[in-house]
Amino acid sequence: STSFTTLFPHKSKLYSKSSPFLFNPTTIELPNSHFLKPCNISMAHNIISSQGSQLKCSAIGDDLDIHTEKPIFDPHSIKPNLIQKMSYDALVWSSLHGLLVGDRASEKSGKVPGVGLVHAPVSLLPMLFPESNWKQACEVAPIFNELVDRVSLDGKFLQESLSRTKKVDGFTSRLLDIHAKMLDINKKEEIRLGLHRSDYMLDEQTNLLLQIELNTISSSFPGLSGLVSELHRSLLHQYKQNLALDPARIPENKAVDQFAEALSKAWTEYNNPSAVVMVVVQTEERNMYDQHWLFTLLKERYPFSSIEFLFKLHDNTFQVRSIRKTLAEIDEQGELLPDGTLVVDGEAVAVVYFRAGYAPTDYPSESEWRARLLMEQSCAVKCPSIAYHLAGTKKIQQELAKPNVLERFLENKDDIAKVRKCFAGLWSLDDSTIVKDAIERPGYYVMKPQREGGGNNIYGDDVKLALQRMEKEGMEEDAAYILMQRIFPTISPAILMREGSSHKDHVISELGVYATYLRNNTRVVMNDHCGYLMRTKVSSSNEGGVAAGFAVLDSIYLV
Ligand code: ADP
Ligand code: MG
Repeated sequence: STSFTTLFPHKSKLYSKSSPFLFNPTTIELPNSHFLKPCNISMAHNIISSQGSQLKCSAIGDDLDIHTEKPIFDPHSIKPNLIQKMSYDALVWSSLHGLLVGDRASEKSGKVPGVGLVHAPVSLLPMLFPESNWKQACEVAPIFNELVDRVSLDGKFLQESLSRTKKVDGFTSRLLDIHAKMLDINKKEEIRLGLHRSDYMLDEQTNLLLQIELNTISSSFPGLSGLVSELHRSLLHQYKQNLALDPARIPENKAVDQFAEALSKAWTEYNNPSAVVMVVVQTEERNMYDQHWLFTLLKERYPFSSIEFLFKLHDNTFQVRSIRKTLAEIDEQGELLPDGTLVVDGEAVAVVYFRAGYAPTDYPSESEWRARLLMEQSCAVKCPSIAYHLAGTKKIQQELAKPNVLERFLENKDDIAKVRKCFAGLWSLDDSTIVKDAIERPGYYVMKPQREGGGNNIYGDDVKLALQRMEKEGMEEDAAYILMQRIFPTISPAILMREGSSHKDHVISELGVYATYLRNNTRVVMNDHCGYLMRTKVSSSNEGGVAAGFAVLDSIYLV
């Protein structure tokens, strides 16, 4: 998603006493849930309990104030003059190193690079994160990759699982139509490329790392996330006298390098040296620098690797070239050659990388749907294919969480256990016990439609109202949604920076771990985790999208 709307829309509601979560420490069992854990959800999420876990320190900013050898980390105790200095340095660093987004205030900033740039919204300092959970998220990433791949091959599972959703959700229905067409013509994707990001929150009460969702299309911020880690390392180094934090505790973040490598390898597998990588973009994209980082790296660091390719070249081009096209442009300029080659604007396309096409607004007319179908019919490598796209829907996430479903796709029992451990409670709305409970205690649930990009979920009393309305109307609209256990991460103090200013707030964070998967028929070329994205948002805000304007980019400090 691209709009940089207000970052902290619900700030005024912070810690309102009327919130059931803040001052009522009761533990409640969710009724009759199919999942093994976590079934305890605590209402004790007050700021006092979370601050208990913060390392104690006196005010930071005067060297004499430091009386402990332990790392000190309560950003709110940093003195204002030091915050000011650090913020200034962070802004300079971001400007010089391309940690940038288009400025909402500038009309052209979503269309023309180099115009109306502003630093990306960031947290001034990294967020503490347990090393064990970090390792857990990395370890499970290749298993999720494999799972997506297996699910994508089971066309019947995808169609059947989404069949009720199809009736009421026009967008998902169009995606399923394309998928069904591919099944009809028995289309096989030999080369399969996944650039994924699995997002998690660490539930405070159960201490479980629970998956929010798995992104298989348009996983954003591989380019900027690594820069945030570097920014934080640089600040920790520069201010080590004041902060006593070790820059080496911020893990290396190579997301963009590995994404570029995966694209170059997919391009190599396609085996046509004159073909390009095509990025499918939105008509306006304020997060364009994140994308440009990836394609600059692809161009500069991954020239042709094989000698055989060099001989085939006639024009001495040593780089993997990329082009950027909107869906409308692809419809206008694209064609399919009889052998299945996708040609757009006169260029044969080896790899199609989607940074658009995940939201209904990306398809304002039939033209965009024609483009999607054209690409799917071609033999270009699609990241993602329609099947990978569907495998990343919330409905499929919920189906996979049902008993014995993972076993259909994975053999290794340890792998299954590791994946299942990350599943939060997930339910279909035809589960009347859960719907009843969600109406009674809506604060414990999130209602999610089959959408990507942030800003689509339903929370709190709106869950109750929506469920009651659907019950009354008795339509099948409920099939558009899933219900998910609401996760309550620890609330921490942080300093958030946006549009050149910093301010203190209380926040919660969501960790995304990137992973690359490349397969050519039976040969797995790449399957690994690669880097991370920490997103931090004001604790009272429901949604978490950075591009959608709710959160800031962050990094992690392992403890
Ligand atoms: P999207 O595809 O729009 O990104 P997500 O499932 O990631 O959808 O939800 C958007 C945001 O809503 C997340 O980034 C997170 O901040 C919040 N969220 C989603 N699911 C939960 C949950 N179960 N508990 C708490 N917050 C959630
Ligand atoms: Mg998300």
